[in-house]
Amino acid sequence: MIDVTLLGTAALMPLPGRALTAAALCCMGRCLLLDCGEGTQVAARAAGVSLMSADVVALTHYHGDHIFGLPGLLQTLTSQGREAPLTVVGPEGLEDAMAPVMKLAGRLSFDVRLVRLPPEGLRLRDVHAAWPEGARLAAFPTRHRVPSQGYLFALARAGRFMPERAAALGVPVRLWKALQNGEAVEVSGRMVTPDEVTGAPRRGLKVAFTGDTSPCESIVEAAREADLLICEATFPSDGDAALALERGHMTFSQAGALAAEAGARRLWLCHYSQRVEDPEACAPAARARFPGAVCGADGMRMTLAYE
Ligand SMILES: [Zn+2]
Ligand SMILES: [Zn+2]
Repeated sequence: MIDVTLLGTAALMPLPGRALTAAALCCMGRCLLLDCGEGTQVAARAAGVSLMSADVVALTHYHGDHIFGLPGLLQTLTSQGREAPLTVVGPEGLEDAMAPVMKLAGRLSFDVRLVRLPPEGLRLRDVHAAWPEGARLAAFPTRHRVPSQGYLFALARAGRFMPERAAALGVPVRLWKALQNGEAVEVSGRMVTPDEVTGAPRRGLKVAFTGDTSPCESIVEAAREADLLICEATFPSDGDAALALERGHMTFSQAGALAAEAGARRLWLCHYSQRVEDPEACAPAARARFPGAVCGADGMRMTLAYE
């Protein structure tokens, strides 16, 4: 299961009821924070998301509306006595962007680890043992005015465990849990691997988060059959397409088109310009392309469960 919470849906400047960009993905009591705009802490508290349980902050790029919440968050975590390290990932320029953030945050009670994601992504269990085996965060390139990337959070699901096979291989019941957790176990001097006792992999869960970007093929690839695409929709109308491209953003309609092309199951729109007073009024443009498009709002939340 993945609990998804939108913490902020504004672009550029915060509005009453619309904080700057952030979203939380939580699973088995641990969280990932996607971007950390101004207002993230308040929004998380209002939504009941504990940022003490955040292991990773994944930044899409270093524009202020996506990172100005970080110094305050680091300071709060210190005042709450956090000791667990916090991993911060982002595109090219992470060290330069984080230097002033760290300076503003002052002395911290925990380590901040700056990490560039490898192409295969980050295995979250390597960051905290409570993450399920198969939970992975990967980045994909996006098209903004500065180095930027979107994120794909995937929860792979192993095949069904087959106790009769484990028994036939002589694996004692006390070791079954380890196999179910994806670990090989030793039985009478031989290693038994999980694939020997499980069926074909089952459909897992996928959430893609674009950050600021114009439409591009890598979003379609990342969001292919995703359970949820959280996509920026900065500009309201088709008439804004040229301006959106110039600024490295997209329109409601373009977000809908991307979700449709990717075959995503759900689409949440976010990152609205101040011109978008009522996202619902602009939604028909997105729904013309992707009928199920949902206008994201601060505090919007959903639990994605395995089929
Ligand atoms: Zn932005
Ligand atoms: Zn930006």
